[in-house]
Amino acid sequence: MRLRIKVDGWPRRALVLTDTPRPNCPDCRGEGGTEHHYGDHTGEYAGTDWDVCPCWDNTRRLVLLPLPQRRRHTADRDPWGPAGYSDEPPF
Ligand SMILES: [Zn+2]
Repeated sequence: MRLRIKVDGWPRRALVLTDTPRPNCPDCRGEGGTEHHYGDHTGEYAGTDWDVCPCWDNTRRLVLLPLPQRRRHTADRDPWGPAGYSDEPPF
């Protein structure tokens, strides 16, 4: 098990600590899995299956730090300000 920190975009942007495939794995050659193309009954290409290699566990991930979504309209607001802060001038 080799842990690596990376930025993941799913299900939401976050810094995650995740397991990674063995780079010298004889089964997946470090790619983390093997592709299987399959066809329908006429032999035409119908899709690709992806088998996750047992040399790593892609469900073993730990969210270290949720990252804010990239949004527009953030320039006029202080994201670090207190909740409920209003910049309307007093009358
Ligand atoms: Zn492997």
